[in-house]
Amino acid sequence: MIPVEIPPNTVMLKGIGWDSDIYLVRDGDEALIIDTGTGTYWNRYAEVWEREGYLNGVRRAVIFNTHEHFDHVGGNSAIRGWLERRGIKVLFAAHRKTAEVLEGQEDYVILSFYYGRRYEAEKISFKLRDGDVLKIGALRFELMHTPGHTAGSSCLYEPGEKLLFTGDTVFKGTVGRTDLPTGSRTQLAESIRRLEGLDVYLGLPGHGGLIRDWEENLRTVKGMLGL
Ligand SMILES: [Zn+2]
Repeated sequence: MIPVEIPPNTVMLKGIGWDSDIYLVRDGDEALIIDTGTGTYWNRYAEVWEREGYLNGVRRAVIFNTHEHFDHVGGNSAIRGWLERRGIKVLFAAHRKTAEVLEGQEDYVILSFYYGRRYEAEKISFKLRDGDVLKIGALRFELMHTPGHTAGSSCLYEPGEKLLFTGDTVFKGTVGRTDLPTGSRTQLAESIRRLEGLDVYLGLPGHGGLIRDWEENLRTVKGMLGL
């Protein structure tokens, strides 16, 4: 597996199989991991982090889930366990609606049954609201609540490098589906409108590759939603 390095702080690992892509952002002795895949291949990702030394010197990690679907949260427990065995303190963060579903182990919303699994509940320390800021070293990540794909779906914006982690809200060329539990096309359209006007250099979605032409991509997906 070849990591995609996005200087100066970010590394993307392409999800294997049904797994979401997994992002690691590092600053000083703190790290942010965005989504964890289904958990089936967690050791493959850990191997790359280990081999490349991405976590050397990290003392504290926050695992942020962009939303409550199993292909983004199924690896939470395994990756937490692995980080803790390396002496790293781990805390979880998510929008409070995603946190509610995950802590309540609502497998029907999490879609665990698609994968023949149950979600292993983890305590979520940071139950975020729209506009809250997650600090990792000197970096700031602003949470934008963007419901539509699910009720708790959210994006993380890093204004320094103008990165936007979009989860399953926006992909390259399309948007997340809205026919799953707690999904809403109307809400998704409103969320996409909220992303307009944001200064984005690079979009980093949960699947399907980076969005390098943010403005044009936004025009495309708006057209798809009839906006
Ligand atoms: Zn999803």
